[in-house]
Amino acid sequence: MAGLIPFPSRPRAGRGLSWARLCVAAGALAFALAPALAAAQDSGGGLNVIRDTEIEATIHKEADPIFKAAGLDPKDMQVLLIGDRSLNAFTVSSRLMAVNTGLIIETKTPNELEGVIAHETGHAAGGHTVREGEMMRAGMAPFLLTLGLGVLAAIAGAPDAGAVLVGSSGYFGTLGALTYSREQESRADQAAITYLERAGYSSRGLVEFFDNFRYEEVFSEARRYPFFQSHPISSERIESLRRRAEEQKHYGETDSPELIAEHQVMKAKLAAFIDPPQQTFIKFKETDTSFPARYARAIAYYKATETETALKKLDALLADYPNNPYLWELKGQVLFEAGRAKEAEPAHRKAVELKPDAPLLRINLAQAILAQDEGKRADEVLAELQKALAHDKDNTFAWRLMSQAYAAKHDEGQARLAAAEEHFSTGDLTQARIFAMRAREYLPKNTPQWRRATDIVLVSKPSADDLKQLGRTG
Ligand SMILES: [Zn+2]
Repeated sequence: MAGLIPFPSRPRAGRGLSWARLCVAAGALAFALAPALAAAQDSGGGLNVIRDTEIEATIHKEADPIFKAAGLDPKDMQVLLIGDRSLNAFTVSSRLMAVNTGLIIETKTPNELEGVIAHETGHAAGGHTVREGEMMRAGMAPFLLTLGLGVLAAIAGAPDAGAVLVGSSGYFGTLGALTYSREQESRADQAAITYLERAGYSSRGLVEFFDNFRYEEVFSEARRYPFFQSHPISSERIESLRRRAEEQKHYGETDSPELIAEHQVMKAKLAAFIDPPQQTFIKFKETDTSFPARYARAIAYYKATETETALKKLDALLADYPNNPYLWELKGQVLFEAGRAKEAEPAHRKAVELKPDAPLLRINLAQAILAQDEGKRADEVLAELQKALAHDKDNTFAWRLMSQAYAAKHDEGQARLAAAEEHFSTGDLTQARIFAMRAREYLPKNTPQWRRATDIVLVSKPSADDLKQLGRTG
């Protein structure tokens, strides 16, 4: 077991919406662990990336038609959800955009979020590499090179595994605050309208979203939301956008009732996970019997560690919506974090049954099984993790659980190989190489696992000594 991550001594709080933190430290590459809840509450200096199957599904449902309209493959597009109350969205590369939870909560309708995503897609598809150019000039090239891995690690949803640390904190600050030229802004606005129209969406939401924040125009730059520092709004800009929007055939189009409902659920869930419970109880009063309000209150009781009340509220919801996988997921999470893994298992199993293609739900199930009987059912755990990794091969947390499951089986070689994969998925090449070298000592020679360990060593900047050893051992 030496060198392997031990079984969690106690369940962690704050999962479910899993928070992975892109921490920031001086120096090239480092690695950090951040307790999930702490990461969720303290966003100073880092970037909290949130993973949640339900919210990701809603965002993709709203965004995918826009990506397609822009000629982008939705499967290639990553939308990072950042746990930050401030209102911001930014495009990192042609395949990666980030949206703050604060922005989503401020959108009144799906159509407003569609508008913002369309605008950011305008930057992405337009190849507005100005940000990359600016970053290069600011000496941020190493960040860009490693961002892929780091972001994948974060996306992979390791709630407490941390992620690659790159550069100085200035990197992230700069990333969210870089500005485009006025011309690029206007081109992104125009592109947004084109994509929205092509996707059959109204452009009204985009205009209205900007209009909601028109007052920001008179603020000094420092007082503006980050989004409006990089996207200065002016009456002139809004009016020209409105004129063009009104000419579109789909201007009068409205979102489907289904999408509107899902958007409200997303907002309520995000707010309930982010805000202190008391704030949620004020926002969603007991007298409000709508689904989002009941859901938000159940989450607030869970956050307040009033486990029994949270479970009672969830059971009442499940009686009304027995086929909602996310309610089962939340029930499993509440139980697991109360140290009741055995009861959490059937709830997570039900979530997987209802949504078998969602890797994060399978990882929850695997974790609940592994936490019981001192890992005696490790084979079951491994089967679930393999299915999860088939959809999400860079999921750091899945690799970590896999390493623990193999350790429970006393399979030292596979345990170390999985640990190597875990570190590799976060971009921590040093640790990846160390674990892969150890894995090679245990794995039977020339098996696919042994070859994989060798490959990891080779792509992880091996030292001359490592190479010598590889040579000696074939
Ligand atoms: Zn813009």
